[in-house]
Amino acid sequence: MGITIPAISCRPHAPQVQFPPEAPMAARQQILCAQCDKAEDYCTCEKYCCICKGMEGVRLAMDGLYYCPDCREACDVPLAND
Ligand SMILES: [Zn+2]
Ligand SMILES: [Zn+2]
Repeated sequence: MGITIPAISCRPHAPQVQFPPEAPMAARQQILCAQCDKAEDYCTCEKYCCICKGMEGVRLAMDGLYYCPDCREACDVPLAND
């Protein structure tokens, strides 16, 4: 019988608290409408998808353009204010 190596139980079980490298303010970055430079809540532009011109479920995306859910997913653009 050799030496039985104990399971990882000897390690402290504390989770590693590490913040992602991004600056905290990046999370609060306000995406503005590319047309009027206002946040989605204040934007009064006619909101339609920049790809298909559809108006259903259109939301402001990270690039300041409006997308319907289908096109946004197809272009892989995250929502501005998720
Ligand atoms: Zn606007
Ligand atoms: Zn669309």
